[in-house]
Amino acid sequence: MDSPEITPEIRAAAEAIGSCKHAVALVGAGLSAESGIPTYRGAGGIWTKFGEPTIDGWDLFRRDPEQWWRDVLDRKSRRSEFSTAIESAAPHAGHLALAELERMGRLKHIITQNIDNLHQRAGSLAVTEIHGNRTKGRCLSCGLRVPLEEISLDRLPPLCGKCGGIMKNDTVMFGEPIPFDALRHCHAEAEVADVFLVIGTSAVVYPAADFPVIAARRGATLIEINPERTPLTGMANIVIRGPAGESLQCIVDLLSG
Ligand code: NAD
Ligand code: ZN
Repeated sequence: MDSPEITPEIRAAAEAIGSCKHAVALVGAGLSAESGIPTYRGAGGIWTKFGEPTIDGWDLFRRDPEQWWRDVLDRKSRRSEFSTAIESAAPHAGHLALAELERMGRLKHIITQNIDNLHQRAGSLAVTEIHGNRTKGRCLSCGLRVPLEEISLDRLPPLCGKCGGIMKNDTVMFGEPIPFDALRHCHAEAEVADVFLVIGTSAVVYPAADFPVIAARRGATLIEINPERTPLTGMANIVIRGPAGESLQCIVDLLSG
C-alpha cells in the first residue's frame, strides 16, 4: 500500500496538536463511515439517499414508554441494515489514532456524537457521548447508565434499580434534551480547549456544533477533517479535505516520528 500523502494541512495540524496545552475533538458519524457504518448526511449518507425520517421519537416515548419498549423489542427481531452495520463494525485506524493521541498526552477529550461505542473499543478513555451509547440504558430520573443486557425486560418500561425511575435506551432521541452531565462536560471542555478538532461531522446538529464555535471565539485553533465542506469550514484555521482514518494516522505518525 502507498504511504498516505502528508499535506501541508496535515503537517500544520500535527504542529498545532504537538504544541498546544489542551486539544479537544468533536467527532461525528463520518469517523465511523470507514468502519462501514453509514452516516446520515453527506455523500452516501442514509438520509441523503432516502430522505429524513419523521422526528418524533421523544414524543412517542413520553406518550407511552411501555409501547415504545415493545416496538424496540419487536424491531430487534427484524434487524435494520443500520443496526447490522453498527453491530458488525470494528474501530479503524482513525479511532485507534485518537486513542493513541490520548495516550501520548496530546488529546485531552473527545466529544462524540456517535453512539456506536467504537471510541471505547479503540481504547479512548476521556470520552463524552453527547448523544448517548446504544449499548446502554439510562434512568430518566437519576441519570444512572447501565449496560442494556443488565436491564430486566420482564416489566415494561423497565425501572431503575437505584431510584425506581423509568429507564430508556441511552441514545438521545430527536427532541429529547441532552443529558445534563454530558452537556456540562462538553461546555467545560470548550471553555479550556486551545486546539479544537472537528472530525467527520456535518456540524448542523445542535448543541454539538456550538462547542467548536465557543472554543474558536476564545481563540482556539480550529482544525476540520472532512472530505466535504461544512458550516464550520469558513471559521477553521486548518482544513484537511480527506478521510479521517488516513489523516489522523498521518498526524500520529508525524507526532511520534
Ligand atoms: P452526519 O451524518 O450529519 O454527517 C457526516 C459527516 O461526515 C459529513 O459531513 C460527511 O462529509 C463526513 N464524512 C463522511 N465520510 C467521512 C470520512 N471518511 N472521514 C471524515 N468525514 C467523513 O453526522 P453527524 O454530524 O455526526 O450528525 C448525525 C447524527 O447522527 C449524530 O447525532 C449521530 O449521533 C448520529 N449518527 C451516529 C452514527 C454512529 O454512531 N456511527 C452513524 C450515523 C448517525
Ligand atoms: Zn434512577
